[in-house]
Order: sequence, then structure tokens, then C-alpha cells
Amino acid sequence: MDNILSDKTLTCIDCGASFPFTAGEQSFYIGKKLSDPKRCKGCRTKKRALRDSAAIMPMPPEEDMGGGRDYGDNRPRIRYETKKKRW
Ligand SMILES: [Zn+2]
Repeated sequence: MDNILSDKTLTCIDCGASFPFTAGEQSFYIGKKLSDPKRCKGCRTKKRALRDSAAIMPMPPEEDMGGGRDYGDNRPRIRYETKKKRW
């Protein structure tokens, strides 16, 4: 089991770009018993970011539904503007 690792060039399955898979990375992957990466670094980062934002998704957006919504059109919705803080 003394095969010397050398840098490889792999092709990303997402964007088709070739990216380096260095000997150091290869030994890391082998140590972790992982198969060769299929995506370039950019796509992997993008995927992770996507997953992170998906995890955030279930949270409701900045809409406060909790308050009284009976103000109707008489009251301005933006009340924060008038309460400027001065430091
Ligand atoms: Zn890619």
C-alpha cells in the first residue's frame, strides 16, 4: 500500500470545469474513506451555501404577524422611521 499519490485533475459534474485534486487532498479523502470529489470547490461552496439557506428557510421572514393587524390604512406601516436613535 505504498502508492505515491500525485495531483490529479478532476472534472466537476456541475459546471464541467476541471479542478485540481491534490495529493494532500487525496490522502485526506482516503483517510476518511471518501470517494473522489465530484464537484469543484466553487460548486461545493455554492451547494453548501444553498443548503444553509435552505435550513434557514423554514423560519418566517421579517414579517410580524404577531401584532395587531387592525390598524388598517389609517396608520402608516413604517413607524420605525420616526423613532430615530441619536447617539
Ligand atoms: Zn463546478
